[in-house]
Amino acid sequence: MKSDSLKVLVFASGNKHKLSEIQAAFDGQLPIVSMRDLGFTGEIDEYGTTLTENAKIKSTFIYETYKRNAFADDTGLEIEALKGAPGVYSARYAGLDCSFEDNMNKVLQELDGIENRKAQFRTIMNLWWEGENYAFEGIVKGEISSSPKGKDGFGYDPIFRPEGHTRTFAEMTANEKNSMSHRSRAMKKLVDFLTDRLRSAQ
Ligand code: IMP
Repeated sequence: MKSDSLKVLVFASGNKHKLSEIQAAFDGQLPIVSMRDLGFTGEIDEYGTTLTENAKIKSTFIYETYKRNAFADDTGLEIEALKGAPGVYSARYAGLDCSFEDNMNKVLQELDGIENRKAQFRTIMNLWWEGENYAFEGIVKGEISSSPKGKDGFGYDPIFRPEGHTRTFAEMTANEKNSMSHRSRAMKKLVDFLTDRLRSAQ
């Protein structure tokens, strides 16, 4: 590697759960630290209107502020009958201080009486690597159940049933969900890309 800053990749997020998932995916090939490890304790304002914009806003903030290779993710639940909503607004669909339950209830209300339950989770991961910018996408298709089922996971997991399965994400183990999730699919593309880059730099 050419300089110190290239030896570490910074995850532009304070989410510890996601960080450990990502560290596991890299399997020690590259040290991944969170923006908290750099001393940034605030939140990055996500003012974009698409997942792609928000992921880029977050990774660019860390890349420009700390001059480090950095990446960020942004995820949304996209429901066909709701023209892609809640999409980029998934975290605050039912209002600024809403709970996961409020968000799920709003989705279920809006789909009340609607037959088309098709939906997908989509993650965009944006990466700054040696001065170049890259984006990776992960999608899992499925449908919205008629009521919440299961206790595991978070967010919209209790109402999302992935294609080819009879259980929701919240009825699956973390490993089972990770084997097919939007985030793990985007992350695999990012890990494969960097593994290749690291190998050719040796
Ligand atoms: P974020 O971009 O990962 O913070 O995700 C934004 C919002 O999408 C979260 O607040 C959740 O409501 C929802 N979300 C993201 N990933 C998942 C998931 O794996 N399952 C369920 N909901 C999710």
